[in-house]
Amino acid sequence: MDLNRKEMTRESGRALWPVINRYMPTFNPLIHKIIDTILPARCIVTGDLVDRQGMMSPEAWRSLNFIAEPQCYRCGFPFDFDDGNAKEGNICAACHKNAPPYMYARSALVYDDVSRHIILGFKHGDQTHAVTSFMPWLLRAGDEILAQSDYLVPVPLHRWRMVRRRYNQAGLITQFLSKETKIPAFLDVIKRTRATVTQGHLNVTERQRNIKNAFVIPDGHKDKIKNKNICLIDDVYTTGATVNECTKILLKAGAASVSILTLARVIKPQRA
Ligand SMILES: [Zn+2]
Repeated sequence: MDLNRKEMTRESGRALWPVINRYMPTFNPLIHKIIDTILPARCIVTGDLVDRQGMMSPEAWRSLNFIAEPQCYRCGFPFDFDDGNAKEGNICAACHKNAPPYMYARSALVYDDVSRHIILGFKHGDQTHAVTSFMPWLLRAGDEILAQSDYLVPVPLHRWRMVRRRYNQAGLITQFLSKETKIPAFLDVIKRTRATVTQGHLNVTERQRNIKNAFVIPDGHKDKIKNKNICLIDDVYTTGATVNECTKILLKAGAASVSILTLARVIKPQRA
């Protein structure tokens, strides 16, 4: 293939994904697999051609900011290496002051310009195939949580937003992770009772208020989660307001424990 033709194929691939996602009523892994083999594989960050779907260019790979030890044993907040707290098994000041309702929370990436770009592309439909790249990251970040989970449960998207977006990004991550780990996915265990305002510009207290009583577990599902260890999945952990609220209702419904696994996490310096 000469360079011009290669470039044209690449451009057509770029233009086709939004169209495919628009006319495909729900996410269908098989259709995606077929399309993935037809269209040229592109890096999910730079758009450069790569060998296969889900791969990233070396340049994009280097720009990813993975969260690693040392981190808070409970919430996963990363400690600075020069911090006196930077020992394994320690908990951060925020967890010390106010223990979270969940057991553990872990995220693969720091939410920064690069991960935001990946997640927005994934959320808004034209990069659903990026989910395959997320798997090794989530398996690594969540290995201890996944080892003791009975169910994978996504944070739900309100059905109106679901209609607009056509799929729940947390649900999609959950389905793929379930396939990787063989841990059953329980997709509709939590229901949103109302549409909440987009939380982007809200502070911690406003987020907590916005999300309060926004979720419910239908009576028919309560028996199934009784005494089970749940791994709750979302794309971004921001203030923890959403996952805390979901955790509380899962525990109230009888779950033995809830831990959180997200693709990225907003890291703001903590005040002691
Ligand atoms: Zn913590």
